[in-house]
Amino acid sequence: MTTQPRAITADAAACGPQAVLRERGQHEVFCGLTSIIWLHRKVQDAFFLVVGSRTCAHLIQSAAGVMIFAEPRFATAVMEEKDLAGLADMNDELDAVVSRLLSRRPDIKMLVLVGSCPSEVIKLDLARAAKRLDAVHKGRTRVMAYSGSGIETTFTQGEDNFLAALAADLPAEPAAAAPSLIVAGTLADAVEDQFRRTLAALGIERVSFLPGRNASALPAIGANTRVLLAQPYLGTAAAALERRGATVLSAPFPLGEEGTTAWLRTAADAFGVPADQFEAVTAAGRARAVKAVSLYKPMLAGRSAFFFPDSQMEPSLARFLVREAGMHVLEVGSPFLHKTHLAPEMALLPAHVLMSEGQDVDTQLDRVRAQRPDITICGMGLGNPLEAEGLTTKWSIEFAFTPIQGYEQAGDLAELFARPLNRKKALGLLDERGAA
Ligand code: SF4
Repeated sequence: MTTQPRAITADAAACGPQAVLRERGQHEVFCGLTSIIWLHRKVQDAFFLVVGSRTCAHLIQSAAGVMIFAEPRFATAVMEEKDLAGLADMNDELDAVVSRLLSRRPDIKMLVLVGSCPSEVIKLDLARAAKRLDAVHKGRTRVMAYSGSGIETTFTQGEDNFLAALAADLPAEPAAAAPSLIVAGTLADAVEDQFRRTLAALGIERVSFLPGRNASALPAIGANTRVLLAQPYLGTAAAALERRGATVLSAPFPLGEEGTTAWLRTAADAFGVPADQFEAVTAAGRARAVKAVSLYKPMLAGRSAFFFPDSQMEPSLARFLVREAGMHVLEVGSPFLHKTHLAPEMALLPAHVLMSEGQDVDTQLDRVRAQRPDITICGMGLGNPLEAEGLTTKWSIEFAFTPIQGYEQAGDLAELFARPLNRKKALGLLDERGAA
């Protein structure tokens, strides 16, 4: 039984700034290798080669599944202890693996070496190895590298590092080029198509998405480029794009009707789109989003949620729950809180919500046990133990895998939160109103 108040506490007048609890204890998150799961689906002629250990191979294989019917586009080059006998040998071994792979797979146009954290690997300079291999395979396959090491990254930071590496490869735009927009952050193809259509209807013509759907989709960048982040975890990539001369626009992220509208409006304002045109283009989508979310409000409104830190999407998801689903958020944990990028989100969250940055998992578990929220959003490692204690949980990784951005996906986003409650209801563990 929950002990939380059921009143809706969202109140625009009482929004931000929130108290931020900074914790630097033990944390329970996946490493950046996990990003490969959605990155390899997005860039369709890329191959992600993890340079790692058997542990890394097991993580990737169990998280991404085994592809039986298609040629895989990710793999692990397992570095054994014996490889440490000589780094020259290790580089030779890597070169041989890459040569074998590329001669067998002419469809690979971008080979991405992904660094990991085992001691067998960290002594290898993967960036230098990628440069060497890029020169060897020039004109046929681009070779690049980034780190997905669990020492340096949480699971969405793998994408952040990948996009930062891509940013360095983008061609320079001439100084007199017309203004252009880069939407940065992996989006499902269907979502990308929807945003492309909406931005075109707003009259914003020179629009690119990063990453694109193939290796050759590298937009030019320069002082007339504006960047709109589609994901909140791209601090390193945003800095890399700024170093190339672009301006990163500050906006809430496109989750739910409100977030999507604010995100599109930021682009519209940057490109001088008239207010009445914006209204005309977005009105129908906004109405559809509100209607779709309303289907799940009887289950969600008035309930409480608690976010463990995992994906860095937590503040945006919490804002959606509070302001569009009528929920009461107790704590919003995030591995990092990028002050600049998250400022528009924090301004929309109630001032009383506790934000926590980093993690000390034991003290956070104490807090969740004391508060017993209706839904706990957490990593996969914590989900089952908390379910065993009677809490209702949702894996945060599902928000990274599922298309949830934009007007047409707002209902799916609400449904992800309603699903575990509906499951409990089906099992007879909720009363008639649906209350826990
Ligand atoms: S990179 Fe490190 S944390 Fe990630 S699977 Fe490999 S050994 Fe584990």
